[in-house]
Amino acid sequence: MTNIFPTYQQYPIDIIAGHDWYLTDNLGNDYLDFTSGIGVCNFGYSNETIIQNVEAQMHKIWHTSNLYESALVEEVAESLGKESDMLAFFCNSGTEANEAALKLARKATGKSTVLAFKHGFHGRTYGAMSVTGNPSVSEGFEPLLPKTVFAEYNNDAAIEMINQQLAAVILEVIQGEGGVINGQVAWLQQVQAACRENGVLLIIDEVQTGMGRTGSKFAYEHFDLDPDIVTVAKGIANGLPLGVMLGKRHLASAFGRNSHGTTFGGNKMSLAAAKGVLEQLTPDFLTIVNDKAEVVWQFLSDEIASLPAVESVSGKGLMIGIHLPATLKVQDIIKQLQEDNLLTLSAHQNTLRLLPPLVMPQAELLQGLNKIKKVLQTVAVTEA
Ligand SMILES: *Cc1c(COP(=O)(O)O)cnc(C)c1O
Repeated sequence: MTNIFPTYQQYPIDIIAGHDWYLTDNLGNDYLDFTSGIGVCNFGYSNETIIQNVEAQMHKIWHTSNLYESALVEEVAESLGKESDMLAFFCNSGTEANEAALKLARKATGKSTVLAFKHGFHGRTYGAMSVTGNPSVSEGFEPLLPKTVFAEYNNDAAIEMINQQLAAVILEVIQGEGGVINGQVAWLQQVQAACRENGVLLIIDEVQTGMGRTGSKFAYEHFDLDPDIVTVAKGIANGLPLGVMLGKRHLASAFGRNSHGTTFGGNKMSLAAAKGVLEQLTPDFLTIVNDKAEVVWQFLSDEIASLPAVESVSGKGLMIGIHLPATLKVQDIIKQLQEDNLLTLSAHQNTLRLLPPLVMPQAELLQGLNKIKKVLQTVAVTEA
């Protein structure tokens, strides 16, 4: 018997505690965590700075309305937007951040058509769902937002579709849910150039790729891009609910008084956690992440990519997709790895997706990868 809507297919594992980069279930089993709660708990489960920040905030004030100024909110906004000179709007999730982005793009341009990409994922509210390029997400919920057009990712035909009629283009520079699909540098730069030429805003969804996941604060930095609007959530508060839309300062006039708002956005507990995340997301920290990622990618290319059970490997930093052939089911691999005390994720197109906490040491990263290698080696033998 269950009293929750069956919207999620759930594993029979009740995780009740976590420490460092390990999770413990109600039966006392310990798991090495290659999920971070879907790219959320990037600093693991015992990060002292974040715990102290949240604990201290808990004894001060949990919530105040956005009708009052807040030094904490200003500080987090400044830290998020300083390199790109962007303003922040705080909300509660990735989907809400994208919702804010779509509203801002319409208001700022006076246009309403948005170009999005097949296999892109932006969330499940009406706006975000309408620009999500996966029919299984929106099936049965039509009619969706009108004036949404889709193009193939990494395809030149998309560039041709960018014209003055568009309000915005929305994309992920590495498609996460869609199967960990890397955007091509030259293509992404052409998309940006076409946006600039046509007065179209470029919205980059960094909900999954942001906050150090790919080895830089935002993944768009790897591609030398300069988006007009950026959306962030997942890793930003290490597990407390928080979303942010960042936008270029000149867009402020389009998002004036009363044009948007939310009760919980900028919640003090979430902001205290985000402050702890941002304080630690330093260039030195990212160098360590990149050094570990280099070892990880060496292992992936030497030991995993060539296995018969693997079609290809994609991703960047500690965002990894292992693409399995149709003869294997990713869910079967995930269950076998659970039995070997390793938690992993899937993504579309039969992809085994790995999003370990960024703080996981190299030894444990390699330990988990060895478990994956072992399972993929065995299935290859039985399939042959
Ligand atoms: C998870 C995700 C979202 C949706 O975020 P929620 O917090 O679940 O609403 C949007 N975009 C991307 C790229 C995501 O990975």
